[in-house]
Amino acid sequence: MLLIKEIGTDALFALQRVLEGEELERARAFYRHCADGDLAVCVAQTDVKGDRGKGPSAQADPDLYLRIVDQNADGIVVRGAKVHTSVSMNANEMIVLPTRTMGPDDAEYAVSFAVPLDTEGLGLYVSSYAAGERNAFEFPVSSRYKMVETLTVFDDVFVPWDRVFMCRDHEKAGPLALTFVEYHRFTAVSYKLPLLDALVGAAGEIAQMNGIMKASHVREKLTWLITYAETVRALTEMAALRCRTGAHGIAYPDPMTTNMAKYTFASRYHEALEHVQDLAGGLLVTGPGGEDWENPEIRAVLEKYFRAASPADVRLRMLHLISDLTARDLGGYHAVLAVHAEGSIEAEKLQIFRSYDPTAAMAYARRLAGIG
Ligand SMILES: Cc1cc2nc3c(=O)[nH]c(=O)nc-3n(C[C@H](O)[C@H](O)[C@H](O)COP(=O)(O)OP(=O)(O)OC[C@H]3O[C@@H](n4cnc5c(N)ncnc54)[C@H](O)[C@@H]3O)c2cc1C
Repeated sequence: MLLIKEIGTDALFALQRVLEGEELERARAFYRHCADGDLAVCVAQTDVKGDRGKGPSAQADPDLYLRIVDQNADGIVVRGAKVHTSVSMNANEMIVLPTRTMGPDDAEYAVSFAVPLDTEGLGLYVSSYAAGERNAFEFPVSSRYKMVETLTVFDDVFVPWDRVFMCRDHEKAGPLALTFVEYHRFTAVSYKLPLLDALVGAAGEIAQMNGIMKASHVREKLTWLITYAETVRALTEMAALRCRTGAHGIAYPDPMTTNMAKYTFASRYHEALEHVQDLAGGLLVTGPGGEDWENPEIRAVLEKYFRAASPADVRLRMLHLISDLTARDLGGYHAVLAVHAEGSIEAEKLQIFRSYDPTAAMAYARRLAGIG
């Protein structure tokens, strides 16, 4: 699985760009440990967060953001919970990062470290999404690939000092959170491209199979989908081409272009689904299942009545692919993933605004207006 390596790498680069002194040396040693062992690393950044209108130290329950509850000569003890932690069930190591900017009152919450997944006191509460076995005819993608998230509970977990990267350094919490996201949104838009290609390809295939390829509204919808997918691709490539070198010689993709790519992807995703579903037709949710298809008597009926410009066999397989990607639980999962994962749409807009330097454009506008 792609993400099991990428998300950890995003965090390892961020730690090595933001930290200094002894903490930096610990992060470097941990990086070598992961590289030498070819380890799978997940990242727990998002806290459960309680009342979103309040900061970590203002919550009714102090454990709604992960915090340090004790410390001694050997290490620290942490309590609280992170949520939506992808691939934690499959990983060797978990890197924990702060989720937001913190003030002096939040010092106990300004914490970052790494623990192996079999650490005492660490509890994984797995999401029910995509549980059980499923039929490959009906679920061509989700019968083979699953990504599972957990509520990740730290019930007074001990972390030795050599694995602690940040301890009560509230001023670095925000920079570490944001630096991770700089990498992680780039990872996000990169791994979305195959999904967008699948939507474009499936839309073209089903339009042909339904016999509607020559209709002008169909070409318009296909053109929209191509423009969408290729705009995300072009912005992703441009974010890489505009990359910069940060602290300790570590490169990072251009933050503004990365966020533009992620924002374009996320804010148009539901419209893309609408176009694909429109071209496919209602069989996406009313079509026959795998067991009926396997039954020779029923299959003869399905083959007769579900033929369009193509035989029923290929048309139903394509419809099931589209249904899996857009209308069933994997489809819903990806729709929510588009809006929230790697940061919400509002967070992306904020980063675009923050990373754009308006000085030159404003000076140009003043010159054009004849203002001194
Ligand atoms: C499939 C999936 C996989 C993920 N994988 C990981 C992972 O591996 N590791 C990890 O750490 N995280 C992961 N995430 C978490 C992801 O980054 C969060 O979902 C995202 O940051 C949004 O947080 P939230 O879900 O708590 O929603 P919320 O933050 O509650 O957002 C809901 C709405 O409230 C708004 N909002 C929230 N706070 C405020 C505020 N203070 N003021 C105004 N508006 C506000 C948001 O903009 C949004 O509109 C994953 C998420 C998903 C869906």
